[in-house]
Amino acid sequence: MTRGTRRTSWAEPFKIKVVEPIRMTTREQRLDALDEAGWNTFLLKSEDVYIDLLTDSGTSAMSANQWAGMMLGDEAYAGSENFYNLCESVEKVYGFPYLVPTHQGRAAEHMISQILISDGDFIPGNMYFTTTRLHQELAGGTFVDVIIDEAHDPAGEHPFKANVDLNKLEDLIDRVGADRIPYFCLATTVNMAGGQPISMENIRDLHTLCQKHGIPVYLDKTRIAEGAYFIQQREPGYADKSVAEIVLEICSFMEGAWMSSKKDHLVNIGGYLALRDAEVFEQARNMVVIYEGLHTYGGMAGRDMEALARGIHESVEDDHIAARVGQVVYLGEKIAAEGIPIIQPVGGHAVFLDAGAFLSHLDQEEFPAQKLAAEIFLEAGVRSMERGIVSAGRNKETGENIRVGLELVRLTIPRRVYTQAHMDVTAETIWEVWDRRDSITGFEMVHEPQYLRFFQARFKPKD
Ligand SMILES: *Cc1c(COP(=O)(O)O)cnc(C)c1O
Repeated sequence: MTRGTRRTSWAEPFKIKVVEPIRMTTREQRLDALDEAGWNTFLLKSEDVYIDLLTDSGTSAMSANQWAGMMLGDEAYAGSENFYNLCESVEKVYGFPYLVPTHQGRAAEHMISQILISDGDFIPGNMYFTTTRLHQELAGGTFVDVIIDEAHDPAGEHPFKANVDLNKLEDLIDRVGADRIPYFCLATTVNMAGGQPISMENIRDLHTLCQKHGIPVYLDKTRIAEGAYFIQQREPGYADKSVAEIVLEICSFMEGAWMSSKKDHLVNIGGYLALRDAEVFEQARNMVVIYEGLHTYGGMAGRDMEALARGIHESVEDDHIAARVGQVVYLGEKIAAEGIPIIQPVGGHAVFLDAGAFLSHLDQEEFPAQKLAAEIFLEAGVRSMERGIVSAGRNKETGENIRVGLELVRLTIPRRVYTQAHMDVTAETIWEVWDRRDSITGFEMVHEPQYLRFFQARFKPKD
């Protein structure tokens, strides 16, 4: 069949079977809700939200096949059939022979950090992630960012902004010695840099360099399918490979991986540690019984493991991932068409507004991204989140706020949940806030929790 030239649109590779009503509120109701929530979108009640783009974590819509799997939950305490189905999916799709299930990603991060890191170690990686870095620090390590400089430039069009700068890594190895580096911490799309991907060429070169120094590479493979899709779309030599093939190739360079299944895997809860090293597996399998549960469920119900075992296969289907990323890009392009500064190119799971440029009249310590997220909610009930100075936290030594280069608001798209019309409403909402940006004032932080402060901090508007 030859393709016509008039049809340029794509549509979702599914139709909708069940719907969930959502509620539109008045500006007054939203103002009250913000006041009660300390102006932090994490503290809002979901019932007050119209379009919820807080996160793609655990917010996906499951397929009919996954819901059918829920009814086949084998809730035996030990040796549930669903656990073995999950192991089979992980081995088939990613190639890892050993699996330790956890209730979500950070539990796997906790275990791998405690097992591999000794006091005073350094863990290089392509930009930090909040929970990942905290677990590395709690284990006595220091995270060292060795991502390429282009990652910190919101407007630059580099196709693989998550690439590792191998010179920075070599400098670190020279400075501290390879024996102080227990592993390299790699991410396939970098959340804090705007959902940006890494190229296969860079993964290969990184693996070669690390191998030379005896440093294993571990992968945070939370959004690996989205990363693989960008490799297929952008990297020479990969256009004819399926996302599934690319995913398997990425994993072939990894000694192990942890996963927040609440993202790519199209389930509402779940995660795991996947390993090649039998000794690390033995330690993790022993540790999981302290914190999560027996090693054949690790905090998940049998039915959750079955939905996950099925979601893993769906997550690497080309049609699914093209529609998923296509919707994100659609929203990004619509917002950017009005001249609004966003991170370019648009990432895989979210559109990131450059709040530093959007509210350029505010100082970073007036929390421009936090304020912008609140203003977007006030405008039309669209919920987003801050990814800037609040998320970055304080310097361990000096206690100062870490003035990160990227001050962003993240509009994160749940998988298979919203329609193109929801994306249109969202874009128009951002346009309206853009039009009144000069009158927007900053925040003062009035409550600051010790850990991962962005979740529970409270703010007060300066006006
Ligand atoms: C969400 C996430 C995690 C943590 O996983 P949870 O399931 O939220 O505990 C780790 N790394 C990345 C990149 C994430 O996006």
